[in-house]
Amino acid sequence: MKNLKKNHPKKTEKKNPPKKTEKKNPPKKTEKKSVNKPEVPERSCVACGKTADRPDLLRFVTDGEGKAIYDRKGKLPGRGVYLCFDEECLRLAAKKNLFAKGFKENINRKEYAQLLEEIKTVTADYFFALLKSGRGAGLVFTGSSKCEKLLETSQAKLLLIPEDASEDTVKKAFALAEAQGVTVMKCPDKLTMAEELDVPLIAALAVTDEKLAEAVSVPLKRAGVIKSWLDGV
Ligand SMILES: [Zn+2]
Repeated sequence: MKNLKKNHPKKTEKKNPPKKTEKKNPPKKTEKKSVNKPEVPERSCVACGKTADRPDLLRFVTDGEGKAIYDRKGKLPGRGVYLCFDEECLRLAAKKNLFAKGFKENINRKEYAQLLEEIKTVTADYFFALLKSGRGAGLVFTGSSKCEKLLETSQAKLLLIPEDASEDTVKKAFALAEAQGVTVMKCPDKLTMAEELDVPLIAALAVTDEKLAEAVSVPLKRAGVIKSWLDGV
């Protein structure tokens, strides 16, 4: 049984001493009321030097022991090294061991190959986690007839087609989605989708929430790049 301590009502805040008026800083609400995009910090790729919005680059940090860590959420503390989602940039980084320069510490070259796998896994996990929680929240639907309906009623914001779907399915989906101005993206094959999401084998998925659609498309775009990396490395 939890014994909720009630003997410490902590009401010590009673006596607010008048604290000699410390120039109350007015909350400056006059700043920017514009609906302009919030400023996104820019960073540059350690390999090609291209500048991009921070979320569009891969961020890495070091564990301090010669290992580079892929910082998926971009929130890990410490110095970050950034890289484009570009096969060439990763190759160049590996070839010239640019992470070592960026972190100013030795990074084992073998780390690059391992990083690639890590990025791939983390990105896939993230993608499926988003879809799973979306399904739980009633924002992701499966099955081609359901998706068709959602498209026709303008509820679908993103349509996902497994990469092994039949040509007919793909054509039809594209035509229907295009007519509604909905983005279509290829996703992992039917079996993977079924296993990961615990659904029957399906030929299409629809996301009906704008924000979720946007979030889901990020790892998908990355997955395409990673695939080309893996094929080429
Ligand atoms: Zn680059």
